[in-house]
This record gives sequence, C-alpha cells and structure tokens, in this order.
Amino acid sequence: MSTLQDLAASQYYLHHVDRDTYKAGQYLAAERRVVLKRDNEEQAVAEVYDGEDRYEVELWVRGEELEASCGCPTGRSGQFCAHAIAAALSI
Ligand SMILES: [Zn+2]
Repeated sequence: MSTLQDLAASQYYLHHVDRDTYKAGQYLAAERRVVLKRDNEEQAVAEVYDGEDRYEVELWVRGEELEASCGCPTGRSGQFCAHAIAAALSI
C-alpha cells in the first residue's frame, strides 16, 4: 500500500486539478504558507494561509488514492483545492 508521502511525491493530484489550481497551490507552498501540524504515513493535517483566510487541510490515503478535505468552497465541493495541493507539496 502506498503511503501518504509516496502519493504526495508521485504528484497524483496533478491529474485531479486544473493547471491554475495546481499553480496556486505551488505558489502557496513556495511562499511557505503551509504549517504542517501533524503527519504520519496515512494522514496529515496542515494549516494553510492563502493571504485572506486560514484553512485546515486534511490529507489521507484511501487504497491507492490520495484524498483531501478543506473548508474552502472548492474543498467543500469535494475537489482538490489549491490549499490541498499546497499541503501535499509540503509533506
Ligand atoms: Zn481549500
């Protein structure tokens, strides 16, 4: 079974987001807007500040899939948001 770190490093989520969302997440990670609060091989929780709001992002492994939740509108709709990308890039 893949660990959270394996899936994050494989850039699994590239296939699940549009280019703009990915770039926004990359920017947040590069700007060190991500505080990793805890992580292990199956789950991580991070706080991401996007310049306006602060969101708690949770990432976890389900089978061979990387799942994410975030309180922002995109995250609430069940999609990978820029915050989730930023958190995954910061693991
Ligand atoms: Zn979000």
